[in-house]
Amino acid sequence: MPVKGFQGTSLLDYPARIAALVFYSGCNMRCTYCHNAALVNTPDEYPDIPEDDVLDMVAARRNFIDGVVISGGEPTLDPAMPHLIERLKTLGMLIKLDTNGLRPQVLADLIQDGLLDFVSLDLKTAPQRYPALGAPTAAAESLCESLEVLRQAEVEVELRTTCMPGYVEVEDIHALGGRLQSGDSWVLQQFVSEYAMDETARQVQSHTEAQMKELLRVAQQYVPNTSMRGARYQQGYEEKTGL
Ligand code: SF4
Repeated sequence: MPVKGFQGTSLLDYPARIAALVFYSGCNMRCTYCHNAALVNTPDEYPDIPEDDVLDMVAARRNFIDGVVISGGEPTLDPAMPHLIERLKTLGMLIKLDTNGLRPQVLADLIQDGLLDFVSLDLKTAPQRYPALGAPTAAAESLCESLEVLRQAEVEVELRTTCMPGYVEVEDIHALGGRLQSGDSWVLQQFVSEYAMDETARQVQSHTEAQMKELLRVAQQYVPNTSMRGARYQQGYEEKTGL
């Protein structure tokens, strides 16, 4: 699915770097709390951005950005995405990929070809509960394969969980934590209802600070390097791009 969005500069999306953002459309999940509903549900309402245009926009900023975040939607669904990254690399850009991890072979190929510097992998809920978020039935296996791919890789990795009440409770953190390793790096984000895809999700109250601290405490039993991240990182796609 093609690129539909571009943001020239972000200080929030690539840790410790200034980066441009590229948004792919389409997704192989339907998370009720998704902040990028336009990209996932109605991508045809937005014009495609040709690869050459992305290259030109990044080249125009190359003196003041360090890299490009490849996000979405789910970017690994676009077979042309590796070619775009290859071209961005010729501009000297660091590349961060945001992915749900359900296409481990694409991830492995990108890493093998030296195209990634940083991967942010979403952990949505307990692996066996992924189908409830619209994922294929084999999602748990795919996710675990992606985790294994990342463990073998020499790239920076951040595991990221948006703590949607009902999907991310203490037992889900235990289920995820049991698949992780003590040397991993995990970030828990508080759910923000404002940009959620589903009306029902927009009515859900976020976990309280005390509940988030309890999730953090449980997560740190498995992954000591687990931290909490605030809502400012979770701006919706339309607000980010001005669409
Ligand atoms: S949150 Fe991510 S994985 Fe879920 S539907 Fe949205 S883009 Fe897809």
